[in-house]
Amino acid sequence: MSRIAFIGLGIMGSPMAGHLVRAGHEVTGFDLGEDALARLRAAGGASAGGVAEAVKGAEVVITMLPADPQVEAVLPEILGNAESGALYIDFSTITPQTSQKVAREGAARGLRVLDAPVSGGEKGAIDGVLSIMVGGAPEDFEAATPVFEAIGRTFKLVGPAGAGQYVKAANQLVVGGTYALVAEAIVLMEAAGVDAAAGLDVLAGGLAASRILDIKRESMLARDFRPGFRIDLHHKDMGIILDAARGAEVAIPMGALTAQLIAAARAQGHGGLDHSALLKVTESLSGR
Ligand code: NAD
Repeated sequence: MSRIAFIGLGIMGSPMAGHLVRAGHEVTGFDLGEDALARLRAAGGASAGGVAEAVKGAEVVITMLPADPQVEAVLPEILGNAESGALYIDFSTITPQTSQKVAREGAARGLRVLDAPVSGGEKGAIDGVLSIMVGGAPEDFEAATPVFEAIGRTFKLVGPAGAGQYVKAANQLVVGGTYALVAEAIVLMEAAGVDAAAGLDVLAGGLAASRILDIKRESMLARDFRPGFRIDLHHKDMGIILDAARGAEVAIPMGALTAQLIAAARAQGHGGLDHSALLKVTESLSGR
């Protein structure tokens, strides 16, 4: 059992913190939203009045924040108040460069830092079966294992600081592209007048099978685009992916096309909807 500070109790952080409470950890959370704090208290955790109060005395500090600016905003308070020797696990999806900077500045203060972005969506977080891609030192990865076991099913150390973010970029490339193609499959089948629901059932049983087809085909057919994972966040991730590709000097044309479709979804005012709302863009391209 550890004393854990958990900063960022949104769609993902809230169920993750709940799993840590149920695994027997003493969790103190902080979020800008009062609803999020109330959810943690209802789950058996404690709420703090700020980042500093949450992290004081914690053996493990966790952040699950939207993007680089929010991680950078809380970093000074974490560095200034966390115990030397504490483990700092950032589950947010941010740029590898910011993760490397956090690791450097954390190490200078005696913190053991891991970047540990996750995949599995809101459902994966609620079910406690996230996939976690971890960058950092092997001994710190070992020390974080009880935390990963409480919230995830597959977790791997993939390299040094920042490596987790590169694997997450690869993950988001595949997820975004898959959504774009499932959306095209739906538009094609509906326009041709065939039974799209039956069609997707068959796809899910063949070589086109995917977790996205498994868990999202019904909501996509029903045009239920409540998030989930917001288009705005996937837009942020496409920026990370294209930067990473430029840095590695590789061409990812499918990724570039997916980024444009996600940009269009945002431009059409769908930034707050789930990323499965790429279907709306695909429909609009065909005047449907
Ligand atoms: P979210 O917007 O639902 O949650 C983020 C939370 O952080 C909010 O509750 C917000 O109030 C809080 N917050 C923002 N700034 C803060 C600050 N300075 N101090 C304290 N709290 C602050 O986002 P989410 O969907 O939970 O995503 C979080 C991260 O996880 C993102 O990086 C996202 O890309 C990644 N992610 C999301 C999903 C998903 O399906 N939603 C899946 C995998 C990874």
